[in-house]
Amino acid sequence: MDWNVSRASKQCMACGREFAEEETYFSALYDWDESFERKDFCSGCWEKQIRDSLFSFWRTRRPRKDQASRRMVDDSVVYDFFQRLGDEGGESRLAFRYVMALYLMRRRLMKIVDIRRGDAGETLVFKNRKDGAQYDVLNPDLTETQVGEVSAKLMTMLDMDIG
Ligand SMILES: [Zn+2]
Repeated sequence: MDWNVSRASKQCMACGREFAEEETYFSALYDWDESFERKDFCSGCWEKQIRDSLFSFWRTRRPRKDQASRRMVDDSVVYDFFQRLGDEGGESRLAFRYVMALYLMRRRLMKIVDIRRGDAGETLVFKNRKDGAQYDVLNPDLTETQVGEVSAKLMTMLDMDIG
């Protein structure tokens, strides 16, 4: 599972300025087939970015120095990411999607309403508790170690603590 992700930076990718404490800035994920690249921009530079290959973006905030360094990403960012991933794509994408679905279930945004078994393996049917939207998520049969690896990548990429 070699799906490259890049981690958060403390400075704007475009102008190189370091973000100030409590400054709001933008994090963008670019989709380059087998890798996701994360780039952080100050608001001024974000306005001028070309949106080609842009997969997803969200607003974030540099914490104050006396706060714990770990930032929590909003659940809606994870949900948006999950939706955009869709059910197409290679093995690592499916692994990502599955782990995100489990995360969203732990966060009580979604629940499993059905499990289907077919030629392709086991498919879990997740339902959004609020709007009732349903998603078929193929169970990629990951080992516990693999789930840990995928979770760690997700954490790095979104800069979050998924416990
Ligand atoms: Zn900038």
